[in-house]
Amino acid sequence: MRVLIYDAKKYDRETLQAANEANEVRHELVFVESLLNAQTAPLADGFRAVSIFVNDDASAPVLERLARGGVRLMALRSTGFNHVDLDAAARCGVTVMRVANYSPYAVAEFAAALLLAVNRKVHRAYNRTREGNFLLDGLQGHDIHGKTVGIIGTGRIGAVFARIMSGFGVALLGYDLAPNPECVQLGMRYASLDELLAQSDIISLHTPLLPSTYHMINAEALAKMKRGAILINTSRGALIDTEALVEALKSGHVGAVGLDVYEEEEGLFFRDRSNQIITDDVFARLMTFPNVLVTGHQAFFTHEALAQIAATTLRNLTDFEAGHANENILQPR
Ligand code: NAD
Repeated sequence: MRVLIYDAKKYDRETLQAANEANEVRHELVFVESLLNAQTAPLADGFRAVSIFVNDDASAPVLERLARGGVRLMALRSTGFNHVDLDAAARCGVTVMRVANYSPYAVAEFAAALLLAVNRKVHRAYNRTREGNFLLDGLQGHDIHGKTVGIIGTGRIGAVFARIMSGFGVALLGYDLAPNPECVQLGMRYASLDELLAQSDIISLHTPLLPSTYHMINAEALAKMKRGAILINTSRGALIDTEALVEALKSGHVGAVGLDVYEEEEGLFFRDRSNQIITDDVFARLMTFPNVLVTGHQAFFTHEALAQIAATTLRNLTDFEAGHANENILQPR
């Protein structure tokens, strides 16, 4: 099948081509660097399938334009699908498939990396020692041992994060629609969101972005958090109301924040913007806090995860072409 791969970076080309060559059934992969949007949708005319990543636009008008050009499959190279209008896709006859399951370790381990960095100020120490400043003032952190870690969303990634945290010797609190037996076995106690917010010294977000989770960390939720608590988000930016977070940081209520995702990241992440002026004032303000560490959506970015994303994406293409349903097909809710 001919597939147009949008938003293709060097690493996407390499891993997808390697996985394609390793397969019996080969696909014709055509790579473009452009993000999918209303302007770039016509590039897919004549293709039966397209593949996109997390910041492409898969809204109704874009899906309608793709379908008019002959596209019947959209293969997401991600787990999250909050950027895809599944109702519109169904209406247009476009099947949407994702990578439901790839290394949860990649993301959970990165959440731990952000936590350790902001707690022990590793990001500041890195710059300081390079400038020849070996003072420790301002670099003091806390032992994680003995603290309460609240995990919001205890699915695949949340459960691995819980396991990593249990190695530090912490009390685990969980909030989810349904308890995960793996987490219960680790000693996690499930609580209401309010209780988790009030009791946790460290909070890590691992729910998908849904209408029910949009801005779940808003001004009220932030106010309920312990003064000085650490907040980590490796899931989706819009789980947090960033303007409210900025206010909570300004007042000193939030202790430290590690973010791999940002609600307006589409205009920023995965590009070199170092020669440009940042026009997003909320993001710019966020970057001024010494106790905030922002990374550009890199939690997934390990060799293992990329190889799994490529292999599953190709399997999705092959299954679709052969008319086989698999677990990665997304249905409208
Ligand atoms: P998962 O489906 O295994 O787990 C999600 C959990 O959230 C489930 O247990 C579910 O019950 C729970 N949940 C859903 N709605 C909820 C609600 N309203 N309140 C409380 N809990 C709720 O998903 P996963 O594989 O663990 O991935 C989680 C998220 O991580 C993805 O949706 C994606 O947005 C994000 N992610 C980020 C990166 C990255 O590179 N930063 C990479 C992969 C995934």
